[in-house]
Amino acid sequence: MDTIVIVGSSLAGLRAAETLRQQKFDGRIVMVGAEDRAPYDRPPLSKKVLSGEWDAERVVLRKPDDLTALNLEWKLGSPAVGLDTTERVVSLASGESVSFGWGV
Ligand SMILES: Cc1cc2nc3c(=O)[nH]c(=O)nc-3n(C[C@H](O)[C@H](O)[C@H](O)COP(=O)(O)OP(=O)(O)OC[C@H]3O[C@@H](n4cnc5c(N)ncnc54)[C@H](O)[C@@H]3O)c2cc1C
Repeated sequence: MDTIVIVGSSLAGLRAAETLRQQKFDGRIVMVGAEDRAPYDRPPLSKKVLSGEWDAERVVLRKPDDLTALNLEWKLGSPAVGLDTTERVVSLASGESVSFGWGV
């Protein structure tokens, strides 16, 4: 299966994954995120959440169903610490390795 690894599961990473699906990429997309939570919107943190107007849970960038529909494989809570472009492997702090490329 073709595999793309996206390091950084915030706004840019999520948009990259969404664009891949919109462009009909139907392979495996692995989302690597240092933080142990779904992508969230940062600007409201210093505004509506800080002022108490919004609950912190409201800053999620996408609803769970929308994330599920993207069919992504999540590797959260463990930052990428290495990239081997020859072997096409991303290493995570957890010790796990994720291969990427065509036919992987
Ligand atoms: C409190 C706050 C208020 C803001 N207010 C505004 C505003 O009013 N207007 C505005 O235009 N912008 C604002 N911003 C900036 C805006 O949120 C950013 O422009 C936006 O989040 C950028 O998205 P991004 O996905 O490019 O990067 P980020 O949101 O920074 O996401 C990068 C992600 O990559 C992850 N990451 C980094 N290294 C690794 C690694 N090695 N392995 C795995 N994951 C990794 C990080 O944990 C993070 O989740 C604000 C930001 C903050 C924090």
